[in-house]
Amino acid sequence: MRKQPSIFEHLRQFDSEEKCIAHFERIRWPRGLRCIRCKGKRVFKFETEGKTGKERHLYECVDCRYQFSVTTGTIFHDSHLPLTKWFLAIYMICSAKKGVSAKQLQRELDTSYKTAWYMAHRIRLAMQEDAQFCRKFSGVVVADETYIGGKGQSPRGRSTARKIPVLGIRERTSGRVLMKAVEDVSATTIADFIRENVKRGAELHTDEFPSYLWLDSSEFVHRSVNKVKGYSHRGVSTNAVENVWSLFKRAIVGSYHKVSAKYLQLYLHEFSFRFNNRDQFNLLDRVLGTCF
Ligand SMILES: [Zn+2]
Repeated sequence: MRKQPSIFEHLRQFDSEEKCIAHFERIRWPRGLRCIRCKGKRVFKFETEGKTGKERHLYECVDCRYQFSVTTGTIFHDSHLPLTKWFLAIYMICSAKKGVSAKQLQRELDTSYKTAWYMAHRIRLAMQEDAQFCRKFSGVVVADETYIGGKGQSPRGRSTARKIPVLGIRERTSGRVLMKAVEDVSATTIADFIRENVKRGAELHTDEFPSYLWLDSSEFVHRSVNKVKGYSHRGVSTNAVENVWSLFKRAIVGSYHKVSAKYLQLYLHEFSFRFNNRDQFNLLDRVLGTCF
């Protein structure tokens, strides 16, 4: 199996803005340049002086006269940052098993802290992989819930951060995981999440938490395990998701220190993307493929 390219290989491949643009063009328009407004094929390229004096690669559509660049309508647009930095940031976020802090990105990318933080959040958003983007989970699906955070303190020493409930499901055959930060762990919230992301008729494995009782219906097959009596019973266990919780919690402690309720979902996107694609060779291209 091929490995992720080393940082040395990455930097050699993407050492100029031109190379990044050409690469992103191939990913964005694999069958040749298309107008992003009218999808017309008659598009010509021209170069102009940008605001910073640098060349901007622009395209113009012959049919609708629309002018655009390879970054128009992507997470990179309007950032005024070169693609070389974006590519390196994506590379770093994809290769760090336990995540990368904004502080670390700031150091390695030579940007301000604010810029590094903004880039990381944009990239995490691109790593989102729910049923809108992927197929629904099917077969045996393990579901569980946990609480993240709750140890934050204000300068006066008062505890400020509340614990945020997070729902998780994992498909047994593929090992794919999906996590969502939610307001509460009521049956309604859990039902919405499961119905949105799991195929009807799937076999759900849960513990005996009452919010899963609704699963005993014609919609899904439901098997539960009593955790007091044992963690696994007749092939039913929620360990598959619990293992993911402990990995995620370790990543938070190790790299992000604390995560606010507002941004927790972005870290969940990032973590599950890396987890679900850990056997993929080229994560950079995979992220780039979701950016437009
Ligand atoms: Zn057009």
